[in-house]
Amino acid sequence: MMGARITLLGSQHEALKGFLESHPHGHEMAAVVLFKRLRIQVEGVSDSDRYLAQEIIPFEDAWVTGSSPSHIAFNLAPLREIFRRCEDEGLVFGFVHNHPAGPAEFSDVDEKNEYTLIQALSNRNGPDITFVAMLWAEEKWVARTRSAKAPRSSESVRHTLVLGKQISLYGYKESSDTHCEVQARQTAAFGQPFVDILQSLRVGVVGNGGTGSPFATLGARAGIGELVLIDKDQLDASNLNRVRGLVRADIEQAKSTTLKAFIENIGLSIKVAAVVSEVDTDPIAVDALASCDVIIGCTDDFSGRELLNVALYVYAQPLIDIGLGGRVDEGKDGYPYLRYHYGRISTILPEAGQCLFCQGVIKEVWIRAQHARRDNPAITAEELKGRYLEDGATDAPGVGPFTSATADYALATLFDLIKPFRRFPPEVRRDMFFVDFVKMGIHSHETAKDTECPYCGTHKFLLLKESSRLNRPSLGKRYEFS
Ligand SMILES: [Zn+2]
Ligand SMILES: [Zn+2]
Repeated sequence: MMGARITLLGSQHEALKGFLESHPHGHEMAAVVLFKRLRIQVEGVSDSDRYLAQEIIPFEDAWVTGSSPSHIAFNLAPLREIFRRCEDEGLVFGFVHNHPAGPAEFSDVDEKNEYTLIQALSNRNGPDITFVAMLWAEEKWVARTRSAKAPRSSESVRHTLVLGKQISLYGYKESSDTHCEVQARQTAAFGQPFVDILQSLRVGVVGNGGTGSPFATLGARAGIGELVLIDKDQLDASNLNRVRGLVRADIEQAKSTTLKAFIENIGLSIKVAAVVSEVDTDPIAVDALASCDVIIGCTDDFSGRELLNVALYVYAQPLIDIGLGGRVDEGKDGYPYLRYHYGRISTILPEAGQCLFCQGVIKEVWIRAQHARRDNPAITAEELKGRYLEDGATDAPGVGPFTSATADYALATLFDLIKPFRRFPPEVRRDMFFVDFVKMGIHSHETAKDTECPYCGTHKFLLLKESSRLNRPSLGKRYEFS
């Protein structure tokens, strides 16, 4: 699967659609979309840039020299200021227009317009630029890219992803016959588009142990097209009670690498990358993460979760974060018993849902305590307390049916984002629910709405302009320069 991937936020999609369809006589309309290009190669998955829409600039009336329901003509001069911005800010120029009467395909005139635009753009900004063209017609996005090095030829994108309250995909390719054969039962439940969409997505799984390995193995069987497995840890004998796809011979081997080998051996239409590293300290792991369309958080680590919590806004990714918690007490018989035990499934999209801080999943004091332990593994609970820090862990004993069940709920949540099938009772939140393995129920709890939260309230990190990765100098320079 070649071709770039385009991502629009739901609000951007609505704004563009609203503008393009606003002509009083149904004429064609045009706009510019400025994109951030994530040009990241991850070994094991296809070479596919992500273009994240950053800003929409509708054409002003004065720029348009003529229009009808089947054409639009415009001046290049007013666009030169935007060309300059592209160069200064490292953004990619995108030309967007609509065909009010169809068809949902680019025309010969579009071909000429794009050629003119990319020539003008590369005359000013040099031969290394790329260019995006998007067309809105018949309630669908069609998109393609061009490079100034071969301005006459265009490449269709792999898909255009709109991230609102769910995942909406346009322009994806049809699955192969071999894939359809494997997915016959899922096609029967959700339809062919669902199967094709899942096949077009690149899903990052951060943490490949008790929850990550069941997610990745079942996710692969369910027809995810590309998986990026990120985990720096090795398999321990005590993991064998709950992991999937890993065996005794894999002990002391990196979980991500052995899991990749297992999945590749199943015989599915999937590409898998393994990154033996961790996202909160390693720029290479952050790049691999940023290249994904969807992230599944399967780490038990507060600092790692904090990074996923910012990355989802900066890199426009839905985050399904899962964890287990509860309390083990001693029973009257002198043996442990589960006082309570639950799996948590949090689903956060850049423009929907509370972030992990607001959900109470991560706290500053827990993250700083983890950093303090990393700097000094011998630090005592007393010393942490002296620094006003505390460990955040609850009892999560790591029991297979509970870790697997939580991972299965996460995969069903991904299904629900692609093709909503759940009917939530009013007391259960879409963005955070708990599966209670002891009391046998699904519930949510209310959290205070923090309108000042920089993540989900003021959206300070939404499509952040980065000078370094996620603007954290410790994570190195941004990918474009590396
Ligand atoms: Zn056209
Ligand atoms: Zn928040």
